[in-house]
Amino acid sequence: MSQLQEELVVLRERLALHDSDRQATTTQLQNQVENLKEKLISQAQEVSRLRSELGGTDVEKHRDRVMVENEQLRQELRRCEVELQELRAQPVVPCEGCEHSQESTQLRDKLSQLQLEVAENKGMLSELNLEVQQKTDRLAEVELRLKDCLAEKAQEEERLSRRLRDSHETIASLRAQSPPVKYVIKTVEVESSKTKQALSESQTRNQHLQEQVAMQRQVLKEMEQQLQNSHQLTVQLRAQIAMYEAELERAHGQMLEEMQSLEEDKNRAIEEAFARAQVEMKAVHENLAGVRTNLLTLQPALRTLTNDYNGLKRQVRSFPLLLQEALRSVKAEIGQAIEEVNSNNQELLRKYRRELQLRKKCHNELVRLKGNIRVIARVRPVTKEDGEGPEATNAVTFDPDDDSIIHLLHKGKPVSFELDKVFSPRASQQDVFQEVQALITSCIDGFNVCIFAYGQTGAGKTYTMEGTPENPGINQRALQLLFSEVQEKASDWQYNITVSAAEIYNEVLRDLLGKEPQEKLEIRLCPDGSGQLYVPGLTEFQVQSVDDINKVFEFGHNNRTTEFTNLNEHSSRSHALLIVTVRGVDCSTGLRTTGKLNLVDLAGSERVGKSGAEGTRLREAQHINRSLSALGDVIAALRSRQGHVPFRNSKLTYLLQDSLSGDSKTLMVVQVSPVEKNTSETLYSLKFAERVRSVELGPGSRRTELGSWSSQEHLEWEPACQTPQPTARTHSAPGSGTNSRPGSIRRKLQPSGKLKPVPV
Ligand code: ADP
Ligand code: MG
Repeated sequence: MSQLQEELVVLRERLALHDSDRQATTTQLQNQVENLKEKLISQAQEVSRLRSELGGTDVEKHRDRVMVENEQLRQELRRCEVELQELRAQPVVPCEGCEHSQESTQLRDKLSQLQLEVAENKGMLSELNLEVQQKTDRLAEVELRLKDCLAEKAQEEERLSRRLRDSHETIASLRAQSPPVKYVIKTVEVESSKTKQALSESQTRNQHLQEQVAMQRQVLKEMEQQLQNSHQLTVQLRAQIAMYEAELERAHGQMLEEMQSLEEDKNRAIEEAFARAQVEMKAVHENLAGVRTNLLTLQPALRTLTNDYNGLKRQVRSFPLLLQEALRSVKAEIGQAIEEVNSNNQELLRKYRRELQLRKKCHNELVRLKGNIRVIARVRPVTKEDGEGPEATNAVTFDPDDDSIIHLLHKGKPVSFELDKVFSPRASQQDVFQEVQALITSCIDGFNVCIFAYGQTGAGKTYTMEGTPENPGINQRALQLLFSEVQEKASDWQYNITVSAAEIYNEVLRDLLGKEPQEKLEIRLCPDGSGQLYVPGLTEFQVQSVDDINKVFEFGHNNRTTEFTNLNEHSSRSHALLIVTVRGVDCSTGLRTTGKLNLVDLAGSERVGKSGAEGTRLREAQHINRSLSALGDVIAALRSRQGHVPFRNSKLTYLLQDSLSGDSKTLMVVQVSPVEKNTSETLYSLKFAERVRSVELGPGSRRTELGSWSSQEHLEWEPACQTPQPTARTHSAPGSGTNSRPGSIRRKLQPSGKLKPVPV
């Protein structure tokens, strides 16, 4: 019993102990629960504080505010756009040159730029709105999760308090039932450990929740930051929008001002126009009144006019008849006038032709009076080549009163000659050309002309014919004159000038302008039976300017130079011919003329002694002598109008037959060397000249005259066939024969007409 009592005491002590322990544990648990509650409350408070401080409400508010602002801005923007469109829709008053128009266009440009910027900002705003929306969504999510956590926490609290209550009840029941204390204690212990576990779980949960809360706080902070940023951005955008608005406002203001001024202008213009219109109206009214009064006075005038008109109408009806009649008479008059003019023209043309003929006749007569065959002498100056000493002294003198006389001192005896003209050494190329000029003009009129340079080698033949480049001779001057004459007549005549160049050496004719200068040319009778001569294959160049002539001369010269090693020597032993043909057509009459100008630089006339020369030199001398004699004979026969003229005795005379016969003109320039050593040749040349010239043309005296002169020097080796052998004359009678009229006789002798074509 005592044992039991002891055990009971021990048990009671242990129970008390256990009780106190449980009490302590319960108090401890209660404290813990209390703490947890407090913590929960504080956390809930914290959460609510947080929610109130930074929670969704503020963000939402802020967002709402931003959205409202955005909406306002949108509305404002829309309003601006509407205003803008209205402004645009308003008709633009054309005001060209208005100073505002430029400003207005500038403003419009600026406006469109601003609109672009506004559109950009709008895009940005909508992006921001989207972002805000997203953030709001996320916030709502977080809040939802927070709510869940709080609900869970409340549930846990509920459960824990329920269990605490249960534990209290259990303890109370255990106290009531002491026997199963152990069990109860055990249960309590077990319960208490469970509670501990639950507590620890709730603690970890709490921890977790706290972490989540911290995380949420972090998220909230971030969002707040983002919100802050977006707020700033919104502020910026608003500032920009405000700026644009101000700009818009300004533009609008300017536009309004402009419109105002335009309106004013318009009003002013309308007023002015109105005032003007009023004034005009007034004037028109006045005019109308005047017209009315006029109308009243015009009525009688109108009546008379109507009468007049009727009268005119009648006249007009009869007008075609009158007109026809008038036309008929006018036509008749015109026809008559035309006929008169035509007959006048015909008359004029007839007169013109007659005048032309007369001029030609006069010119021809002039030349004829001078003599169709004329002989002049030209004395060259003494040159260095003549050397010095007595041999080089001057043996030629002139008559100061008569330019047709030349005196020669030969072997101490004075001899005088009379020619048509004598040129002293002082005479220039131009002076000499002056003498031949008339002949060149004859050539244009359709006459054939021959100009010969005769004389011993070195006497100046080539100088007179060709001259030097600086001082050209007859050849070039003649062509120049031809060109200028042809030019002058160009309005009435068309001319064609051609040039041929040939040489006769040892009685062989060669073409100096041909491609084959060595080729022998033949003189042929024209196959048409006209009796004309021509040289087949002789080259003819058409020339139009002095340049052309120079080219032709150069070409001929080059041909000769390449052909002969000593040109000077060769040229002194050959005859050089330049044949110029002038063909003309009279534009008004169609009359055709052909004139030939033969410019001949003869071979040297010096005599070669029979004993001193042999071979080639002798042959050359024989040919030269024969041809020069033949020329002298032909000229003599022509001058004396013999029935037979010995043209065929040499190539030269045969070739020049056409140009020597008929109404052709011939000029012989006898070149004379003035120095002592050449007096013998000079004497011979002058004798030849005088012989050619001295034939007097009276029909009775012809034979006698013919018998009185000589050409024996040329016939030293070969007697002349036709020419008699007269004695030498040192002086001839003055040209009384020039007064005779040989033309008619010559025409009888030479049937070939002067205007007939002369084929080459
Ligand atoms: P040809 O042809 O008769 O043999 P050129 O004409 O060759 O003689 O003349 C011989 C020389 O005399 C040349 O040097 C030439 O320049 C010169 N001469 C001839 N006539 C004159 C003149 N009137 N004035 C000046 N020099 C002349
Ligand atoms: Mg010469």
